[in-house]
Amino acid sequence: MGLTQMHIKELLDESRAHACDGVGPDHVCVKIAAIAELPSRFGQFHIVAFYNNHDDKEHVAIVRGDVTNAENVPVRVHSECLTGDVIGSLRCDCRDQLESALRMIGKMDQGILLYMRQEGRGIGLINKIRAYGLQEHGYDTVEANLALGFRDDERDYSVAAHMLESLKIKSIRLITNNPKKIEELKKNGVFVTGRIPHIMQPNQYNRFYLETKANKSGHLMDFSGKFRLPEQADHPVVKGMDDEQVEWVQEHYQD
Ligand SMILES: [Zn+2]
Ligand SMILES: [Zn+2]
Repeated sequence: MGLTQMHIKELLDESRAHACDGVGPDHVCVKIAAIAELPSRFGQFHIVAFYNNHDDKEHVAIVRGDVTNAENVPVRVHSECLTGDVIGSLRCDCRDQLESALRMIGKMDQGILLYMRQEGRGIGLINKIRAYGLQEHGYDTVEANLALGFRDDERDYSVAAHMLESLKIKSIRLITNNPKKIEELKKNGVFVTGRIPHIMQPNQYNRFYLETKANKSGHLMDFSGKFRLPEQADHPVVKGMDDEQVEWVQEHYQD
């Protein structure tokens, strides 16, 4: 069962009246702007759209089940990647990570995917494409990574943390392979009771992660020899990897 009409009304009413000092040093405050059903190929969800006072981005939560006042809710935080999520780019693994998370949550009684509109680690689409272009013109992965920039994690998590608060989530279990993410959410006041490993299903596109061990260069490369930029703050772990391969990826795929 999804969010009840009563809870939807309650969330909208409370958000309308909401005022707070804000989360984090930037005093981020968010409000729920709209809620609707979202049937999808991954299951039945509600989509919750948020307004915030910090950036001009329209962040959303994809919600499974009636999560208001719930504890230990499985939560995945995903950062927008237009080229990966929408176009199916093979320069990164964002779409694999997104689909895999939605599929996982779609099978659960309760769960949330926060879809954060911070393209290219928050530096925007243009700079991300610029970094791709640099790689094609001989820049190495480090230089291209510098051009891609580094995401201000605290800022991300303050918005995400307030979104969970607005949804009246009491505690969460974060779906991630990256313990740093848990720390960032905790710093922003989220009660994290546990971690659910994010294990992706193997498919023809993420198959190369299974083969990274054969690649001794220390970088993740695709079959045509192009580097892949780690856009999601998470390590890709694909079902079928042995312990040694998982360890290898975690060692070599740092943020
Ligand atoms: Zn607030
Ligand atoms: Zn991507």
